Amino acid sequence: MIFGFFKKKEEVQEEEPDLEPVRFLGALNGKDANLAANARLADAGLVPAKDLITDAMARRADTLRIEPKGPQAVVTILIDGIAYPSGKLAKAEALAVTQMLKLLAGLDTKQRKVAQSGGIKAEFDSKPYQLMVVVTPLPEAERLTVRIVDLSIKLENPSDLGMSEDLRKKLREITSLKGLLLAVGPPGSGTTTTLYAVLRGTDAYLSSIFTIGDTGGRNLFNITPFETNPGDSLSTTLDRVVRVEANVILIDPIKDAETAKVAISKHEDVMILSEFPAKDAAAGLVQLIEWTGDPKTVAAAFKGIISQKLLRLLCADCKQAYRPNKEFLKKAGLPAEATTLYRKPQATQDPNYEPCRTCGDVGYLGRVAMFELLEPSEEMQQLILKKPDAAAIRAQMKKEKMLTLLQDGLRLVAEGKTALEELQRVFKAPEK
Ligand SMILES: [Zn+2]
Repeated sequence: MIFGFFKKKEEVQEEEPDLEPVRFLGALNGKDANLAANARLADAGLVPAKDLITDAMARRADTLRIEPKGPQAVVTILIDGIAYPSGKLAKAEALAVTQMLKLLAGLDTKQRKVAQSGGIKAEFDSKPYQLMVVVTPLPEAERLTVRIVDLSIKLENPSDLGMSEDLRKKLREITSLKGLLLAVGPPGSGTTTTLYAVLRGTDAYLSSIFTIGDTGGRNLFNITPFETNPGDSLSTTLDRVVRVEANVILIDPIKDAETAKVAISKHEDVMILSEFPAKDAAAGLVQLIEWTGDPKTVAAAFKGIISQKLLRLLCADCKQAYRPNKEFLKKAGLPAEATTLYRKPQATQDPNYEPCRTCGDVGYLGRVAMFELLEPSEEMQQLILKKPDAAAIRAQMKKEKMLTLLQDGLRLVAEGKTALEELQRVFKAPEK
């Protein structure tokens, strides 16, 4: 039963226009599967693989995971980043599904002892998808992770990300300067998406914008991917871009002290956008000081460090309004004008309760980001010279009322985009 998730048990018999199962349209690496030569595998694996992926897509999952556990394999799906158990498979079936998806992704099915990754083009519900397949060898069997990317969803502009008008304006001002604008966050928090959104938010008619490195297949209006010469160092390439009068350059994520030093050395010539993983903006600044070993240059070079965390958006079809009392608003740090807040439907014994079909009765649909922005105020620059720790930087941000994650998150609560419970959950969730 593939679509049972959307229905109460007694409704399953009802007539319902069933969705067509997913269609696999070939491997991203061009090595298309030869099903005739792998007939036994296709017999055993194709239908269950299709069922699992279709079910995950119908439930709007962003990830499907099959993990070996003793004589069985555990299936988990992630919807908006939250894990939901999704049944178990017999070991042989899990193996067939894993091998089948490897074959479809153009991977080596004979190899089961090394990590492999690839992608499958797919179509579901008349929408284009990419399935990013990763297999990791574990002692007992391979673990399969399929990231399901809905290509029809575009998070391209700062407004798509839920950025406030204030923050958008500030970022636009920053990108008209020379120096460094960095996006940092925990892995998977969407910093790359944010950087591209910032890039799209800059005025392409006034600025000359280039990218160096991998744009991940993004279509960038008015932004030129810069042709790099094989063998050229990052420093040489940056000099060449600066010579063609670039205003803004997006470079690949900063990985180490060496690339950090190169990026920061060009701060008087151009605005450089980049990213690296860090817990938050303050931790990012500490990392930058450590990499470059040069607090003075960091203080002069960085024009902003933006960080973010993702929150689930309340489902517009089933969110419930409630009136919080004034005392509660004050305690939560919400403005007194926020007289109506929203939350997901509360648990009910009502026999007539109908689960929401839009979000699969999860109460949330899609995600939005809350941001913080660390700015190089005079006091902050003075502090940097003393090689501060992250806590001292955070305290200074607070003192100067720079935008914090919590403050931006509360804005999203006040706007009814998310629930206070969700904000609390994200702040309580352990860092991965
Ligand atoms: Zn809903």
